[in-house]
Amino acid sequence: MRLILLGPPGAGKGTQAQRLVKKHGIVQLSTGDMLRAAVAAGTPIGQRAKDIMARGELVPDDVVVAIVADRIDQPDARKGFILDGFPRTVPQAVALDRMLSAKGMKLDGVIELKVDANILHDRIASRVADTKARGEALRPDDNPDVLRRRIEAYRDQTAPLVDYYRGQGALGSVNGMAPIAEVADAIDRLLDPAPPTKPTGKKPVSKTVAAKRAVAAKVAAAKVAGRQNPSAARSRAAASAGRGAAARGKSTLRKTKSRRG
Ligand code: ADP
Repeated sequence: MRLILLGPPGAGKGTQAQRLVKKHGIVQLSTGDMLRAAVAAGTPIGQRAKDIMARGELVPDDVVVAIVADRIDQPDARKGFILDGFPRTVPQAVALDRMLSAKGMKLDGVIELKVDANILHDRIASRVADTKARGEALRPDDNPDVLRRRIEAYRDQTAPLVDYYRGQGALGSVNGMAPIAEVADAIDRLLDPAPPTKPTGKKPVSKTVAAKRAVAAKVAAAKVAGRQNPSAARSRAAASAGRGAAARGKSTLRKTKSRRG
């Protein structure tokens, strides 16, 4: 399965990606994580990206495209992947399309997490508080000024991808403001729509009711007849019950046969 998670910073892409990774046995490819690792390791890419990221701007397309091209060739990505944070511009999306078609691969879908800009600030603020509470280092770009720039970068450069993928018929949108479990369910429904309801094999209730009424009517008739001629009534009732059982047996068999066929 090959997916893209699309949404502004703080939309919950990471949370949903981690869950999908476990559920589908695929890998999460986060360009943000890859770039942070490059910065930490001080590689040439990291040196190029460091200040750009700290300002909340986007790293040049060629840099990120090269990282992703490399990463999706790794053996652990063979079963599938979730791209989180990539593509972030239309040229990156075009490059990804080209990359995948050169490898004979195809996207299974693009999931957009829709979140109002005004709640993103609150979400990042609580992410910062949680990170501090755990005693972990803060991301240099998790502060109010840089966040504003990241949200603007999303609106101006990334949001156009919604139309890009809608045009390809690949887009599914979910409400990213719902509780995490509901977002997860909505994503699962997009990926695996409920199969059409199968026939249960049970008789419709109305037929059962009709059959019960018929039996009740026969019993009542037998009682009336029994008062007039007890032995004839008993044999008529027995014969009738036998015919009923035979008929029921036959119809069940037909159903079984037709279900198998
Ligand atoms: P966010 O929490 O804003 O979704 P990420 O962890 O995905 O952030 O990315 C952090 C930063 O890394 C971005 O603000 C940007 O500078 C850089 N970055 C990540 N992915 C890309 C990309 N596909 N193109 C350009 N820059 C990127």
